[in-house]
Amino acid sequence: MKVRVRFAPSPTGGLHLGGVRTVLYNYLFARANGGDFILRIEDTDQGRFVEGAEQYIMDCLEWCGLRPDESPVKGGPHEPYRQSERKHLYHQYAKQLVDAGHAYYAFDTPEEIEKMRTEHRKDEYSNAQYDTTTRVLMRNSLTLSADETAKLLADGTPHVIRIKMPEHTTVQLTDMIRGEISFDSSIVDDKVLLKADGMPTYHLAVVVDDYLMEITHAFRGEEWLPSAPVHVLLWQYLGWKDKMPQWAHLPLILKPDGHGKLSKRDGDRLGFPVFAMNWKDPKTGDLTKGFREMGFLPQAFVNMLALLGWNDGSGQEIFSMEELIMRFDISRVHKGGAKFDFEKAKWFNHQYIQQTPDDELAVLARPYIEEHVTAPAEALLKKVIPLIKDRCTLLPDFWAQGHFFFTTPEITERAAITDKWNDQKQAFFSEWIYKLESISQWDAVTIEASFNDLAAAQGIKKGDIMLPFRIMLVGGKYGPGVFAIAELIGREETVKRIKGIINK
Ligand code: GLU
Repeated sequence: MKVRVRFAPSPTGGLHLGGVRTVLYNYLFARANGGDFILRIEDTDQGRFVEGAEQYIMDCLEWCGLRPDESPVKGGPHEPYRQSERKHLYHQYAKQLVDAGHAYYAFDTPEEIEKMRTEHRKDEYSNAQYDTTTRVLMRNSLTLSADETAKLLADGTPHVIRIKMPEHTTVQLTDMIRGEISFDSSIVDDKVLLKADGMPTYHLAVVVDDYLMEITHAFRGEEWLPSAPVHVLLWQYLGWKDKMPQWAHLPLILKPDGHGKLSKRDGDRLGFPVFAMNWKDPKTGDLTKGFREMGFLPQAFVNMLALLGWNDGSGQEIFSMEELIMRFDISRVHKGGAKFDFEKAKWFNHQYIQQTPDDELAVLARPYIEEHVTAPAEALLKKVIPLIKDRCTLLPDFWAQGHFFFTTPEITERAAITDKWNDQKQAFFSEWIYKLESISQWDAVTIEASFNDLAAAQGIKKGDIMLPFRIMLVGGKYGPGVFAIAELIGREETVKRIKGIINK
């Protein structure tokens, strides 16, 4: 049987890094097994639908290089891939469940349900559910006569279809990560399968579509584990039990301190991204930063995500996509949540920047430099990259670590020069600019030789004038070799920057 997996997001907003990790694990599993990876858009909850979210999800997958084999855009043998366009398919299955006595019509108004929930609450903390005990108190086809039900349906009375959970039945599931799991059916509520607007809920749609799309393995977030018994029963009640996919419920990605699920708010609070790419909420206009715009390389982001909850046991941390495909093993995914560590994420990016060829880095760094200067020369950019890449962790660092190559810097460490300034230093630099005007060849070696010769001739310690020279060129106490900087910015600019300090 051909392996077929799916990523089934609801288009409700930005794509959380946990969502991208789910895509990745699906993708790796499909590729390792010669299978198909399907993108299905679960947009049956019209109330939560957000304009632009579907396109955003597809753009994120594209950025990460996780291309689906079948999708709403690419099409495929099981079109359509948007659940809202499959609306007509679900009703017959809900009806089949009703006819077989596994589901029932419920006519209760939201107010009636609310009243029941508060009047029959179990304790002061939790309201009652619509379940095996309370359904007998409600207006549904289990409590009404067949005639009453038929009349309400004929009159077009708003209604939903609910699953009829069996009483005290153990529902079992074998999870690829967690092993055997058992649930007591009585503690699960009678979930709505078909809503009053005729749309299925997630619970019905996920089972019907996984069946119709011949999904063999379903990987999804751990938050769906409590609903799993409903899905297992639906597979059984619809007569498809032998086609049920193998499940894997992926562990949560936790806050850095390990307390609770990592949320968008944690990112805002702690200053790191939680979404794959920038997400602009179309209703509020709020912009949430993404890993892409923060300057992560997609390969680094993907590698980091692969290791959030999985490793191959060898201690290796850097894996190319090909290696991940070969080594990834879903049964080695940890059961416990994985703590997100932004410093570690940055470490991955630093590693990837070091291994990316310079001409590719020049392309990647250019937009961040162009935020500050127009049209930096290609030849200069290419020479700058190898000089500073080891100091760069995120792509904007190419500006922070290299701005002085492109524009005259603001001197932020002036005191480090002026506090220890003396006549000897003044004499050195005043003399040196004359020498610089006339040195034969403008390259780092010749510039350094001229610097050394003059320092020796004047009897001044090189160590006393190196730092001032660096600050004159860079503005601060950082940067690559100072003579290499002088070479790249050119004679005129070097002399101008020295004069800018000594003539003050
Ligand atoms: N639509 C569900 C979600 O967005 C998908 C869960 C699943 O993969 O079954 O979380």
